[in-house]
Amino acid sequence: MICDGCGANVPDVPELRADHLYVGAAAGCWSAYTELIGRQMADRSLGEGRMLGVDIYMSQHPGVPGRQSSQSVWVHLVGLYLSLEHGYDGAASARAKARVAAPDAEFTWLEPPRPLGRLTVLDVLAAESPDESRRLVHEWADSVWQAWAPHHEAIRLRAASILARG
Ligand SMILES: [Zn+2]
Repeated sequence: MICDGCGANVPDVPELRADHLYVGAAAGCWSAYTELIGRQMADRSLGEGRMLGVDIYMSQHPGVPGRQSSQSVWVHLVGLYLSLEHGYDGAASARAKARVAAPDAEFTWLEPPRPLGRLTVLDVLAAESPDESRRLVHEWADSVWQAWAPHHEAIRLRAASILARG
């Protein structure tokens, strides 16, 4: 079946379908992503890719409009932006994202452009070495971030307003 988020052709995994309520991903795609996380946790040299991978994956699988999905898309797109355009590492990005997700924050739904990136988690899983995996995570990140270009300005403004509050 084709994943609604990233467009990857993945096997159906019925027993996983209810596990990820607000992620707009096919169960087989989610399963591939958890496999990638497992590999990234097993090899410390892939740790930064794991942090970035969360932002990439969630940005590529926005799901349907709703409070939780809207917030998730905003938070993870700000994370992608800060990592790619400001060189934030995982820890700095996590601190900034926690501030985006403040309890009083409002999140309008960002209509996802289509397609949402040229690469998918399956491309990264096909890597044959840690070096290749790191390179593919960055290509995957760039492709998803570029796909969201119609909303770049809104995301930059939101990030700037949060960072300006000190
Ligand atoms: Zn997918």
